[in-house]
Amino acid sequence: MGRGRRLTEYRDDSLFDFVPAAPVCRPAVSAMSPPGGLPTPKSAANSELTDVTRAVRAGIECDDASGCVVPPLHLTSTFAFRAFGEKRTYDYTRSGNPTRDLLGQALAELEQGAGAVITASGMAAITVAGYLVPCGARIVAPHDCYGGTYRLFEAWRRRGERQVEFVDFADMTALRQALAQPTAMLWIETPSNPLLRITDIEACAALARAAGALTVVDNTFLSPAWQQPLRLGADLVVHSTTKYINGHSDVVGGAVIARDAALANELTWWANCLGLTGAPFDSFLTLRGLRTLHARLEHHGRNAQALAEWLLQQPGVRHVWYPGLAQHPDHELARRQQKGFGAVVTLELEGGHEAVREFVAGLECFSLAESLGGVESLIAHPASMTHAAMDPAARARAGLTDGLLRLSVGIEGLEDLRADLARGLERVQRLRPLRGLSRVAAGA
Ligand code: PLP
Repeated sequence: MGRGRRLTEYRDDSLFDFVPAAPVCRPAVSAMSPPGGLPTPKSAANSELTDVTRAVRAGIECDDASGCVVPPLHLTSTFAFRAFGEKRTYDYTRSGNPTRDLLGQALAELEQGAGAVITASGMAAITVAGYLVPCGARIVAPHDCYGGTYRLFEAWRRRGERQVEFVDFADMTALRQALAQPTAMLWIETPSNPLLRITDIEACAALARAAGALTVVDNTFLSPAWQQPLRLGADLVVHSTTKYINGHSDVVGGAVIARDAALANELTWWANCLGLTGAPFDSFLTLRGLRTLHARLEHHGRNAQALAEWLLQQPGVRHVWYPGLAQHPDHELARRQQKGFGAVVTLELEGGHEAVREFVAGLECFSLAESLGGVESLIAHPASMTHAAMDPAARARAGLTDGLLRLSVGIEGLEDLRADLARGLERVQRLRPLRGLSRVAAGA
């Protein structure tokens, strides 16, 4: 079922009256050919450029008409026809917009894909990717995937729209068994949230390919700067661009990048059909954020590694999870598969709820907020925030104890972040002196 069935089954040509018959849908957003209507950015011609330079120069100096260095924001819902029956490249922003296409082109290049769709949120991206699964066909997903993904897939399953099996991806036997049944899509999220378990993309994609299933990787936690799943055999990459790609916590957005043009076309068709495409202004801001992705992540990663190592030594901290720690159970896999270890650090405080309340109350450099990936540091309490919808027994099974805290480490001064956390730990110690030094362990 998986790879064989394509968009042609859903095709509705009446939506694309002016489209030549050959392409299934338009605009075909291709990384290799710039979106129609926009001249090629100067750097796009040079295939030798590093990803760092590509990210910085995405769309730069692409408008010959004005010579503007930064690409213009096409803040329009519609585009005039040249004359009766003579449509230009773009006609209506839901189906195509030059600013949004520049972002799609840049992300496709950075993920080494053939094309991308830019969506209004990460959940919209997940929805579009999920629509490649025909009605009634089967998705295999990790049991600890992002809560919004879980909620959507569960809703599809309950309504009989898709079959969904949630599997513990740490158990390869269970995964093999799940893929032994006809499967259309294997969903991977690595690192997992909040315990930062790492999934071997190459091994899982090979299993999925053998089973005839598409492999999708949610790459939100690492971005293409640190992980490129298409190079490891995945077919699609999903992002909540809300996080590291935009990086400034001021836009909600998403993207799906496809390995080949046929998949990109299919995604483009669904994004337009469902009305899930992103807004031009959001795309403009996200493209601006993308320029500093690599510089930001270098700083994020340095701070995260240093804080994780320091937290390991602190009294009152029971566990620290960070793939950059040698003690992390998936450290070697992360080294092999990723270019960086990420900037999310999870810790467990001794003293449960009470300790957590005291710890977060006086923090000055970590905002108590959901989300991650912005330049500013955030702290979240999964049990009462991101994973509150899970019943307590399921939370306990997943290892999400009341003392667990997730840090999204920002790019502030390391000394400030460390001092802030140290003061928090001192507050906890004063609250209820903890016996002895911590029984620190990395990993779980
Ligand atoms: N995927 C992951 C891994 C996430 O963490 C999130 C949001 O936190 C999403 C997808 C959904 O993204 P959005 O909030 O932009 O819809």
